[in-house]
Amino acid sequence: MQRDTTPMPAGAAPVGLFSAEVVADVCIIGAGPAGITIARDLVGSSLVTCLVESGGETPSAAADALARGASLGEPIHPPEENTRRAFGGASHAWDIRTGAVNPHVRHMLLDAEDFDAHPWIPHSGWPFRRAALAPYYARAQLVCGVGPFDYAPDIWEGPDAKRLPFNAGRLRTAMCQFGPADLFHRLYREELRIAERAGRLRLMLNTTVLRLLPEADGRAVRRLLCVRQ
Ligand SMILES: Cc1cc2nc3c(=O)[nH]c(=O)nc-3n(C[C@H](O)[C@H](O)[C@H](O)COP(=O)(O)OP(=O)(O)OC[C@H]3O[C@@H](n4cnc5c(N)ncnc54)[C@H](O)[C@@H]3O)c2cc1C
Repeated sequence: MQRDTTPMPAGAAPVGLFSAEVVADVCIIGAGPAGITIARDLVGSSLVTCLVESGGETPSAAADALARGASLGEPIHPPEENTRRAFGGASHAWDIRTGAVNPHVRHMLLDAEDFDAHPWIPHSGWPFRRAALAPYYARAQLVCGVGPFDYAPDIWEGPDAKRLPFNAGRLRTAMCQFGPADLFHRLYREELRIAERAGRLRLMLNTTVLRLLPEADGRAVRRLLCVRQ
């Protein structure tokens, strides 16, 4: 890994010095829920893992500003408002109030039709069906701290939780589950801290990857160009 003093875009945090070479078997870019999940799996193996995160331990306006950009096509919220540049990524923005003290996040399955190609959506259609994801969904339930991998309304229905009497031909009852919002940036942060102490993980906070540097034959990327804020 190579760190550089390449100037950051206007409005970005100040650039620090560079020098270190960090050697690892696997490098994960981004400590959001995806990167943290991969890192948690890898620290249990014989591989040395490096996790590079653009933000710090907690979100900051300066780090979030690095996500500033324009959205093409359908208008959406500005990118810098829809992401969090910190360990935990966008999980810092999860804030669904379920009545419990701590905020939650909603988990549900993609619809089977989401995998179909639709002529009105360019490049749509997945190369596999939803069923192919079942084993991964089941694992994700555990990672996200939610209940059984079963989203059929029947098993959740009870005397005090009846589904609304919709016309089944026109409206369908769908289930979602709510998991704790702080799992990734609190519990898994602690877990990975232990892996860091044991030398299994090198976490590089405040380090933004600017460029992947491919090998000459273009078949692998073994070096990154990073900037330290
Ligand atoms: C307000 C809000 C509410 C949401 N609610 C829900 C919900 O209820 N249910 C649900 O399923 N999903 C929800 N989401 C979406 C969910 O948060 C995302 O799908 C999820 O966080 C994606 O995880 P990720 O790890 O792929 O990306 P992110 O969470 O975006 O993490 C990416 C990480 O990579 C880092 N990074 C980016 N670029 C670089 C770089 N060049 N170098 C180094 N690091 C970099 C970022 O700092 C960040 O930490 C919500 C999102 C938001 C914003």
